[in-house]
Amino acid sequence: MQTFVTEAIEWPESAPALRRKVRDLVDAHGEKDPVRRANCWTKADPEFSRKLGEAGLLGMTWPKEYGGHEMSQLERYVVIEELLAAGAPVGAHWIADRQSGPLLLRLGNEELKRRWVPGMARGEIFACIGLSEPNSGSDLASVRTSARRDGDEWVINGQKVWTTGAHVAHMMIALVRSEAGSERQAGLSQFVIPMDAPGVTVKPIIDLTGAHEFNEVFFEDVRLPASALLGEEGNGWKQATAELSLERSGPERYLSSMVLFLELVRYAGKHPDPAVTQLVGRLAAEAWTLRLMSASVAAKLARREDPALEATIVKDLGNSYEHAIPELVQACVEMDMASKDALAAVTGYLLQVSPSFSLRGGTREILKGIIARGLGLR
Ligand SMILES: Cc1cc2nc3c(=O)[nH]c(=O)nc-3n(C[C@H](O)[C@H](O)[C@H](O)COP(=O)(O)OP(=O)(O)OC[C@H]3O[C@@H](n4cnc5c(N)ncnc54)[C@H](O)[C@@H]3O)c2cc1C
Repeated sequence: MQTFVTEAIEWPESAPALRRKVRDLVDAHGEKDPVRRANCWTKADPEFSRKLGEAGLLGMTWPKEYGGHEMSQLERYVVIEELLAAGAPVGAHWIADRQSGPLLLRLGNEELKRRWVPGMARGEIFACIGLSEPNSGSDLASVRTSARRDGDEWVINGQKVWTTGAHVAHMMIALVRSEAGSERQAGLSQFVIPMDAPGVTVKPIIDLTGAHEFNEVFFEDVRLPASALLGEEGNGWKQATAELSLERSGPERYLSSMVLFLELVRYAGKHPDPAVTQLVGRLAAEAWTLRLMSASVAAKLARREDPALEATIVKDLGNSYEHAIPELVQACVEMDMASKDALAAVTGYLLQVSPSFSLRGGTREILKGIIARGLGLR
């Protein structure tokens, strides 16, 4: 049985300077509206992403040869934690920096790496993830979008759904069925699809808060060169599930409601009643534990170990935490939800969006199965 081992994190010496650099950038450019600052890693602001790229704060761990800065996983962790805690609008570059860039560097051929990675490090090229399809979300092995070989080219047909940021992205890494007639996990491959390729259509999905974050993406006879295949033909399932470790462990998995916690602290300053003070203490203690767990995963990634199980645990516990904050605040503080007061406005917004926290990146029921297997329980 494997267990979750946290470790005493030795933060890099450069951490204080990095924190200061991020805070200055956020102060100069960042979003002031507290509702826009909550759940900020879904909020795209290409201009802010370019500023981060210019400041050397994207692609931090990537090789210099591809525009990266060869810094450590923990230095990157410090930066992304500062950005999220401040509610900076990081959504445009988030997916490229977190998973598409690392995936290209690990599995991409030279042409793919040179075409996409340096622009990602500059904060000029954004990415989206093409996994989910209608009838294929939790049951990802039922993917139906197809890639058919035609001479030197691949021809893609099908549809993806819930694609976060497809409307600002320049490329998608898609999981598709490359072997006609194959079933389940076999015969799947990953392809890099430029979003401006003829035959790609992006249609917005507006969520119940009125925001446009995700989309439907249609592929109609999209022709790709042979070099668009990422990694090995037929190995798409293994590649995509390994990618999910990068998606599940970061501080975005517990910091989505952090702006509300900060508003609560502000409120408690003026109204230090015991129930509010107690809630602040409880939320701070849990945040501290989740931070240690999440940073331990970053430390493991830095040692090139596979943190798949730990990443899944961090996502499950982190999502429970960020989901609970708006409900706990609403239960603890009497407020007029229709008022313009920041505490009420952020609580109202997060009550609406928080049900999605445990869906994105894989649903709770599926994660519990992975955790049970990892712990040797099934
Ligand atoms: C905000 C947001 C952003 C997203 N962004 C992206 C993106 O960028 N790219 C992308 O590809 N996808 C994205 N998704 C899709 C997301 O990954 C899927 O919604 C998720 O994997 C669930 O799939 P589904 O919606 O088809 O639900 P379903 O699979 O239909 O599941 C519905 C319910 O049934 C449960 N269930 C299903 N199968 C089982 C089982 N075997 N055992 C027990 N319970 C089960 C699920 O846990 C869930 O509670 C996003 C989703 C959200 C909410």
